[in-house]
Amino acid sequence: MSKNKTAGYRGHHSYQKRKEAEARSFIRYRCGFTNTIQDVLRQRPGWVEVKEDEEWDFNWCDVGWLRENFDHSYMEEHVRICHFRNYYELTRKNLMVKNLKRYRKTLEREVGHVEAAKCDFFPCTFELPSEYHLFVEEFKRNPKSTWIMKPVARSQGKGIFLFRKLKDIMDWKKDGSRLEEQRDEAQVESYVAQRYIENPYLIGGRKFDLRVYVLVSSYLPLKAWLYRDGFARFSNTRFSLSSIEDQYIHLTNVAVQKTAPDYDPERGCKWPMQQLRRYLTAKHGAHAVETLFRDIDNVFVHSLQSVQKVIINDKHCFELYGYDILLDQDLKPWLIEVNASPSLTPSSQQDYEMKCHLLEDTLHVVDMEGRLTGREKQVGGFDLMWNDGPVSRENSGLETLGSSCFSPNTNLGKHWLTDIQWRRRFTVASFWLTCLFPGFQVVSMTEKTSYDTSKSCLARRAHDRLLLNVLN
Ligand code: ADP
Repeated sequence: MSKNKTAGYRGHHSYQKRKEAEARSFIRYRCGFTNTIQDVLRQRPGWVEVKEDEEWDFNWCDVGWLRENFDHSYMEEHVRICHFRNYYELTRKNLMVKNLKRYRKTLEREVGHVEAAKCDFFPCTFELPSEYHLFVEEFKRNPKSTWIMKPVARSQGKGIFLFRKLKDIMDWKKDGSRLEEQRDEAQVESYVAQRYIENPYLIGGRKFDLRVYVLVSSYLPLKAWLYRDGFARFSNTRFSLSSIEDQYIHLTNVAVQKTAPDYDPERGCKWPMQQLRRYLTAKHGAHAVETLFRDIDNVFVHSLQSVQKVIINDKHCFELYGYDILLDQDLKPWLIEVNASPSLTPSSQQDYEMKCHLLEDTLHVVDMEGRLTGREKQVGGFDLMWNDGPVSRENSGLETLGSSCFSPNTNLGKHWLTDIQWRRRFTVASFWLTCLFPGFQVVSMTEKTSYDTSKSCLARRAHDRLLLNVLN
């Protein structure tokens, strides 16, 4: 770290970045976690871990560390850290809604109804206790509907409950046990009261939500990448509105579901995004699913734009967000929450591998090594979704936004390659690479082992991905 914290990095050419990276013989990293991210950082060639009090070039810190240290840290040009200073503007439940409401109003005023309506993807929400009276007015307009109460700064479904009567939140206010719990957390804990989505899309009678990863590498200008993989998290119990107190029905958090008495750790409760996309396509056709996924893209872009002027942009910062999206029976996506520290703890071998790829690709985009040109539209599993404007898939230059042939550069849930295509291409590429570079070692494709976190497994995966990148 150094004392220089001036702006103007974006204009630098990648050549200069590479030269600077070469001048440093290794990248010193600090990591506040002991899960997947630690494995990925340890396996990254040329990266070395440093102790608490040593200088670092890259810091995968938790938000607690950020709050305590960010303002006292002086960072050199090349240094990177995994959160923006006021990351919570998008990730705290009350602030997210506040920013979205304000942004919708601005659009309404400056651009008009149609554009403002594109922000109608979050359920009606009030902050309690501050907006209690507004909430009561809304509640009385539709007295039969169901609401969900959520503490603004907690996660994993903690402190959440559903209600249909005002009396229930009165009881909750008076409830000694909850107050006790609150005293441990903070003096006064704010909640949001949010309209409960009563008609969720069900598969096999079960509710699910989507976890999608979006990487922001800059807020000014906004540069956001969408990861192709992700998953759907299912509840373990068939959906019903008759028992609103049953968390196993209504909350799809893995942390909640895995405590269900009939939870099967072998089967888990997740579907890869590709499986979900395939299922929906078979059921509703490609066009409907394409529309749905464009609507989901719209959720990412508008939610990021809602905080673009609020988040303190800093060239040292990037953020890997975990978006939670719920689908209803009309195939409308609803934004439930955005997480600044999406869980990186794996729930299965498949989940572990997905998260390792996600993190490796995040590091590729952050590009401490200075390998990128800055013009890439795809890096590993990340597609550039927004670069101070929408990004089109093709390079034809003929497309304009709004024209029917504009095709966004996003591929959420799309297959990269089928297994057979992948194996075929692997064999051909291995052949050519060994012909061209006789020293190049071809390693067999990754076999699924049970929870293999070993160096060789990670190295094999890195090798497979290198080939994939060569082929693309
Ligand atoms: P947490 O940060 O504790 O995970 P969330 O806001 O993500 O809180 O809510 C937890 C779960 O509750 C979600 O994954 C979803 O299944 C369910 N949920 C939350 N809000 C709603 C809502 N408005 N309508 C329907 N289900 C919801």
